[in-house]
Amino acid sequence: MKIIMLGAPGAGKGTQAKKIAEQYGIPHISTGDIFRANIKGGTELGMKAKSYMDQGQLVPDDVTIGMLLDRISQEDCKGGYVLDGFPRTIPQAESLTEALNGRGEKMDYAVNVDVPDTAIVERMSGRRACLSCGATYHIRYNAPSKENVCDACGQALVLRDDDKPETVQKRLTVYHDQTQPLIEYYQKAGILVTVDGTKDLHDVFADITAVLGA
Ligand code: ADP
Ligand code: AMP
Repeated sequence: MKIIMLGAPGAGKGTQAKKIAEQYGIPHISTGDIFRANIKGGTELGMKAKSYMDQGQLVPDDVTIGMLLDRISQEDCKGGYVLDGFPRTIPQAESLTEALNGRGEKMDYAVNVDVPDTAIVERMSGRRACLSCGATYHIRYNAPSKENVCDACGQALVLRDDDKPETVQKRLTVYHDQTQPLIEYYQKAGILVTVDGTKDLHDVFADITAVLGA
């Protein structure tokens, strides 16, 4: 099964993508996580991405598209995958569609996690991320067992620089301008599913699996 997660930054794409990946035994591919791993590793790609990410801007398509298409051609993606944070622009979506068409493949679902902007700032300011293994928590809605420590790997949790309120506002503007048009793109393609992302995270997951099937 090949799935795309759509939604504003902080809507819960990553939270649901991890649960989907586990349930269906497919890789969770987050372009944000790939960029952050490259920043941590001090690679050229990481250096290119960092200045855009710090300002709440999108990393340019010419960097992002090749990176993602390369990732989904790897062996572990043969049985499908869940994309989290890609595509974020119409050219990214078109490149993905074209690449899949070229291999005689297609996306199965684009799951739009719908959360109004008013709820996003609270979600983002309460998010705590593990930069070591990519796990995410929320100080109120999905707290780790021990404050500021990752349940999965024991490393310290951080508030991402780009989750600070001033950057979140910028990211929301970028989302509305460049990413929201993808909802119509995938609606026209006939694979859009919209779920109410304001519900409890377990209820959101139940709504998603009701559509995807067991
Ligand atoms: P995204 O990947 O869309 O940027 P995340 O999955 O990281 O968003 O979620 C953003 C924050 O909101 C995290 O702190 C997460 O724990 C929390 N969160 C996710 N889903 C819900 C939900 N349904 N209700 C409340 N908080 C949630
Ligand atoms: P995320 O972890 O999905 O919230 O992404 C964090 C940041 O990484 C974004 O604000 C962008 O700067 C960058 N990024 C992630 N995915 C993409 C993408 N598909 N296109 C452009 N930039 C991206």
